[in-house]
Formats: sequence, C-alpha cells, structure tokens
Amino acid sequence: MHTQSDDPSGSLGSHGRRPAPDPWRDRYAARTSGMIASEVRALFAVAARPEVVSLAGGMPNVSALPLETVSAVMADLVLRQGAVALQYGSAQGVASLRESICDVMTLEGIAARPDDVVVTSGSQQALDLVARVFLDPGDTVVTEAPTYVTAINTFAAYQARVAHVPMDGDGVVPEALAAVFARLRAEGRTPKFFYTVPTFQNPAGVTLSAARRPHVLDVCRRAGVLVLEDNPYGLLRYDGEPVRALRADAARGHDVVYLGSFSKTFAAGLRVGWALAPAAVRDKLVLAAESAILSQSPFTQLAVDRYLRTQPWPQQLEAFREMYRERRDAMLYALTAYMPPGVTWTTPAGGFFVWATLPGGLDAKAMLPRALAARVAYVPGTGFFADGGGRSHMRLSFCYPPPERILEGVRRLGDVVAEETGLGDALGAAAGAGRSAGP
Ligand code: PMP
Repeated sequence: MHTQSDDPSGSLGSHGRRPAPDPWRDRYAARTSGMIASEVRALFAVAARPEVVSLAGGMPNVSALPLETVSAVMADLVLRQGAVALQYGSAQGVASLRESICDVMTLEGIAARPDDVVVTSGSQQALDLVARVFLDPGDTVVTEAPTYVTAINTFAAYQARVAHVPMDGDGVVPEALAAVFARLRAEGRTPKFFYTVPTFQNPAGVTLSAARRPHVLDVCRRAGVLVLEDNPYGLLRYDGEPVRALRADAARGHDVVYLGSFSKTFAAGLRVGWALAPAAVRDKLVLAAESAILSQSPFTQLAVDRYLRTQPWPQQLEAFREMYRERRDAMLYALTAYMPPGVTWTTPAGGFFVWATLPGGLDAKAMLPRALAARVAYVPGTGFFADGGGRSHMRLSFCYPPPERILEGVRRLGDVVAEETGLGDALGAAAGAGRSAGP
C-alpha cells in the first residue's frame, strides 16, 4: 500500500518512531491500495511550524466569526431544542435546514426543493457518497486538470480511473471535454460522471466563464454524462460579475448533482455540507448515508440552521469576502513584486487559491525542500493530477495567513525560485525597491 507519512522524508511515523510492521498487511481490501494521504496533508506538520509561512493549506479563517454569537446560538439551541438536537436524526438531514439550504442556493440561481437535498458531513462526504453510489472498480471519472486533490483520492479509493480535461483561463475547454468523451467512447469506456469545480477552482483559482457554461452542459448532455458540480467557494467572490451555478441552467436539473458546503461561508468545523440530486440519485445517496453514518448530526445541522435564521449571515459573508479579498490582493501584489521573470500565475476573482507556473522546466516538487528551508510552504502541482502531470506548477493559498505574512512568504518563495532559475544574484540588486512597499 502506497502511503505518505507526515514526515517529509517518508521514513518515520508521525511520532518520529519507525512504524512497527503491520501484521494485517495481506488482509486489507484491494481498494485500500488507492487510499493515499494527500500531498497537502503530508505537508501539514512542516508547514505548521511557526517560522514557516504556509501558503499550502486551504483552511478557512474562522477568526472572522463572532464566536460569542455562535456560542449564544448553540447554547440557545441546547436549551430550546436539546431533545431533538441531541437525539438521532434522519440520514437525509433536518428538514428546516434543507429549506434554508434551498434559500442559500437561490443566491447562485438554483431553484430547488428541500426534498431533493441530502445534508452531509461536509461536501467531502457528499463526494464520497456519490462515488460510493456510482463507481465500480475500473470505472472512469472525467475531471478537470488539475483538480481537487481529495476528489482524486476519493475516486482512487473506489478504484476508479481518472481521465483529465485541460482548462484555460476560462475554465474547462468544452471542445477538449467533447474530445475526451469521444476518445473514451472509442475505447469502450463510458464515464460515470464529469467532476467539476467550475467556480474559483481548487487548485487553479479559475472560473468557468458564463459563456462556456451552456456549452459544457450541452457536451455532457449529448454524451449522456452526469455532471458532478462541486461548489464550495461560489459565494466567496471578490470582484466581477456573479455566475450562475451549472445546476441552475441544467435541463430540469436531471443531469447535475450539485454539492455545496458551509465550510467556507460559516464554519468548517461543524462539518455541514449537502448534495442536491435528481430524485432517483437522492434516494441512493440517502441509503448510502444511512449505511455510512445512520444519521447526520442534528446538533450541527440545527446550529447552522438557527444561525442562518437568527443572525445577519449576509453581513458575515461580506466580512469573509473583505478579509479574503485583502489577502488575495496581497498575494497578487507580492507575486508581481517578488517573482522572477518567467513565472506566471492565475488571477482568481474569488475562492482561496492561486495557481503558479514555473519557467524552464523547473520542478516544484523537487524545489519544495529548498522552499521549506527558506521557511515557506506551498503544495506542488503533482498532487492535483491523477496522471503524474503538474510538475512545474504549485498551488498558493491566500486564505489563512494575514496579508503581511503572505507578502513575506511570497518574498521568500521568489528568492527560492530566483536561485533555482539562476537569477538569484541578478535579481538581488533590483528587488530592493519593490520589497519596501506594500499594497
Ligand atoms: N470540494 C472542494 C473543491 C474543496 O476545496 C473542499 C475543501 N477543501 C471540499 C470539497 C470539502 O469541503 P467540506 O467537506 O469542508 O465541505
């Protein structure tokens, strides 16, 4: 089984001791060979050191939440509805929250019925349930390249194969998607679904343009391929015009399963997300959820619902947007100021991530130990491809460190890249002016 430990050298367990041989090694199910720790997780231990500026993790910044208010909402919940909140609930989720979720989805143009919503433990569980319901070993899933690392790992855990489709600055390329479907058809493979993060993509930070959205839906409809739209970042837009979710314009919604989450717009630790699915798929998801967890936590669902109904959530959302916008701006400023020539990057209008490309065949994975020595962490691009691609790329997150740390982190990274490209000395003299200024 291929696993990566928290120790970047890969030789020691997470407690610094060599792990004992595993007596059950030969007994595990074949699917465990696809269960690998994400590159992001492997980095956490190093990136968490206080001297390291971590541009690696994608953790939302909950410090912008009014904790007294959240605590009062929860205390009130236990006092008034404790008997329901602390009891088992249903596998589909609390009805009043499913109503609130439908209200939230109208913000992205979706008209849905609460009955078609399944509440999940974060959208990650929704992803797992969809995979469980659709994927047999050897099945094919089509995804953008690059794509969300834990989606790759989830599909691998169900022993599925991933076929990638390239993106450009406007998101996935519809003609390329059609070409991949045609190639798979010629090979006798019918993709089970097209997994896409169309808005403020993780990791690339790009958004599928409004003009392309109907084409993508059309290509999938013609090929008879279900769309799995994963949209945890859609409400975190920092500039530009809002786009409608793919699900909003799908014909009767029959060919899209939509995933949403409160992790980035409220609190990730509550683990509340959802799937909106066509009725037949919804029934399967509820059955799959029942066998996985019996019931979602009524406590966390009711806490989210009460918060949405009693607190000024739109203002909270705006506060999150302002905080992340400032961080995004700091990162884009710093990249312009500190990156040597030849490095390129995306300009996200929302979400958490910038995707940077190194020049001259530089390998971001090979460079990582030198970046860590320079006290800055990022995620090498290879983790976001199922086919070994992504060597010259890195994902830079701006969600967690404050703006001044982002500036410092990108400055350190710029120095590392400059040294790798042999530009270190030449740039040293020129960099002074840019370094003293700030956004
Ligand atoms: N999808 C994407 C694209 C993500 O970036 C994440 C979180 N990093 C998730 C799903 C899962 O989020 P959660 O389970 O917290 O809703």
